[in-house]
Amino acid sequence: MRPFDLPVLAALMTGCGNAGSGGPPATILITLDTTRADRLGAYGYRAARTPHLDGIAADGALFTDASATAPTTLPSHASILTGLFPPSHGARNNGNHRLPDEVETVTEIFASAGYSTGAFLAAEVLSARYGLDQGFDHYDDDFLHDARPFLDAYRERSAETVVRRALAWMDSRRGEPLFCWLHFFEPHFPYHPSSEKTHPYDAEIARVDTAVGRLLDALEDRGLYDRTTLVVVADHGEGLGDKGEDTHGLFVYQATIHVPLLLRAPDEIPRGIRIDVPVSTVDIAPTLLDLAGLVAPAGVQGRSLRPLWSAPGEERSERAIYFETLLPRYEYMWSNLAGMRFGTDKFISAPTDELYRLQSDPGERTNLFAEGGAARASWVKRFEALIGDFPAPPSPGEMALDAATRDKLAALGYGFAPLALDAQAQLPDPKDRHADHLLYRRIQKAARNEDWQGVIELTANGLRGKTLDPYQALFAARARANRKEYEPAEALYRTLLRLFPENTALLRGLASVQFDRGQFELALQTYARLIELDPLHPQHHAGSGDASMSLGRTAEARAAWEAALVADPYFVKAWNNLGILDAKGGDFESARSRFERILAIQPDHETARANLRLLAKDTRE
Ligand SMILES: [Zn+2]
Repeated sequence: MRPFDLPVLAALMTGCGNAGSGGPPATILITLDTTRADRLGAYGYRAARTPHLDGIAADGALFTDASATAPTTLPSHASILTGLFPPSHGARNNGNHRLPDEVETVTEIFASAGYSTGAFLAAEVLSARYGLDQGFDHYDDDFLHDARPFLDAYRERSAETVVRRALAWMDSRRGEPLFCWLHFFEPHFPYHPSSEKTHPYDAEIARVDTAVGRLLDALEDRGLYDRTTLVVVADHGEGLGDKGEDTHGLFVYQATIHVPLLLRAPDEIPRGIRIDVPVSTVDIAPTLLDLAGLVAPAGVQGRSLRPLWSAPGEERSERAIYFETLLPRYEYMWSNLAGMRFGTDKFISAPTDELYRLQSDPGERTNLFAEGGAARASWVKRFEALIGDFPAPPSPGEMALDAATRDKLAALGYGFAPLALDAQAQLPDPKDRHADHLLYRRIQKAARNEDWQGVIELTANGLRGKTLDPYQALFAARARANRKEYEPAEALYRTLLRLFPENTALLRGLASVQFDRGQFELALQTYARLIELDPLHPQHHAGSGDASMSLGRTAEARAAWEAALVADPYFVKAWNNLGILDAKGGDFESARSRFERILAIQPDHETARANLRLLAKDTRE
């Protein structure tokens, strides 16, 4: 947190950066999840249906060459909000990292300057537990709980809901300076089928565009638009088959690293300008602060983009623009990838390094190192100098609980990471594992469709080889468990746990098998271990509550379900279980309020409705 900054307040009251318009200023950050630059009309895509986003581009600046810092959601958003590259902000992977509290965010600076700050999120992967809520006085992240185990990361809200809730918040803050972040998730896989000829991915982007249009109209109606600084950026793109990648996260090629970036600030940015200088999403935070007349924190690695339109052509020193992905290691035990842009050259550090001249080779087809057309050693040296200069975050972003546990917890989270970061040289290069990746994608798809027989068939070879393929084994275990084939499921989990004893995904799988087999004492022990490893995960407490309840230990079950609600106040199943316990104990008032709470979170929740009807009947009789 940052102490209140008086000079900054004075700047605010004189309306710095928003000259010529009445009323307090507003800064609105729109992040488009998974949106490729080349799928927007403003970036030249003919089939686009993005009139509102294109309109923002026409009303301000379009950056033709913006790079995300990572092809995954949390690391990229953390860079947008901090102005830091992932090695310095620490939130380097989805699901098992969080932004350390000591890192200063653009939000905290706006908040210190007297702005009301609100964020409206569309996906679980950005929920408050991952630390991006710092500085927001309202962090709107209530996602519905989907019971299907494979869909956890996909819990999402529609763009329409995000806009509606953001507008309600703005209305409640009328007359106050605003910093508001809206996140839209539609273009993220899985794409909803599209009835028209449009590619389903384009249809998802079009849905976001419609919601953006609604937001802009509402800002106009409220007289806000003309004093709003508006930035639109994607957190990363989408492979769509480029270089063999369908979605994002595995590689750092342009399909996922190149992002759209639009910036509109009335009376400040000339309308309709295009800026070709390579920029990074770390530049967004210092730019927004600059435009608002606020000072960026010391140590910010981005630069204000203002000189690019206010003093174009002026000499700017060339700089390296960094990006990375840790997903290959966490997800598949393959090598991390990292790299940098330097001018229009792009270097990728991998077990087999790559260099591309994007100006003549935008599709990254010719690795100049392979062709002998560039000196690899000097690039490696330059890259090592760059990363050597990155300050470490004030505390590790990997979700860990205390120093003792932290050391053991390379594997905490949803993937497999038994190896230390510096061991990556021994790991396979993701680009050499293309066939495996395609197979994994088919396995994931079968699992999403709950085609358990399909999963078992697809993973059969991975279990037969001399060395077990952990990824296939995990999915095979889940498939067996879902088919109630508990013995082979448990055997697979135990084999994997010998390799990765502290992997929470494996332990959750084992606990659920134990529960389903009626081994409630054993399940309780496994949940206790899970709570030790990750006390912030609501399912660890809820599972413990379920096991206690099955053993008739009502008080323990109650405490566990309450703990699940502390970890996640929107955990509908825990509200429901507690409501039932209350009703059984005769506390109808408390039961009613718990079921009503469910309907506030999820209005179409049938069980809660039925329970409320039963309660009404019971209390009448
Ligand atoms: Zn994303």
